Amino acid sequence: MRAVVLKGDYHVEVEDRPVPQIREPTDAILRVTSTALCGSDLHFYRGHLKCPPGFICGHEFVGEVVAKGDAVKQFDIGDKVVVPFYTACGACYYCVRGQASRCAKGELFGNSAPANTVDGGQAEFVRCPLADTTFVRPPEGIPEEMLVLMAISSRLVTSPRHVSSKTSLTVTDANSQWSRSAADRSACAPSRVR
Ligand SMILES: [Zn+2]
Ligand SMILES: [Zn+2]
Repeated sequence: MRAVVLKGDYHVEVEDRPVPQIREPTDAILRVTSTALCGSDLHFYRGHLKCPPGFICGHEFVGEVVAKGDAVKQFDIGDKVVVPFYTACGACYYCVRGQASRCAKGELFGNSAPANTVDGGQAEFVRCPLADTTFVRPPEGIPEEMLVLMAISSRLVTSPRHVSSKTSLTVTDANSQWSRSAADRSACAPSRVR
């Protein structure tokens, strides 16, 4: 598959990489249909955040489930899903309080540092750990370009619905996260994978 790989400061290349495979029963594999470039990508691209190179970039993306582990019960092959920048277990101290970005088992897509990272979604396919509690099911009728913006603002646009569905928080509680995300909303550039 083709994938965008960080090679060093101010240097990315599109490379051929193996199509990712299921490693854990809670994994799913997505065919990426839209992916994003966000401000966090620029931290390591510009060298402000030092990351060992060689990883596939892309924190946020939208895709179709093409394979899943036996423990993935909430999503099926063919489902369209929105994926935020980190995985979430849905059960740890933070997740149950609606602070899934602090998930004790969370992995960040599209980085090599700090620890707990996984290849990102600027690629034709991506492996997603903890699929059941990481994926967000998109609302009906939202165009693809809007869905990837929701991924960037994940746990923010989608979070009121998502957090309230996964925790005891109300939608109003969860909405308070969205209001703090103006910078994220405005500093993003969606792109369609062709
Ligand atoms: Zn991001
Ligand atoms: Zn968690």
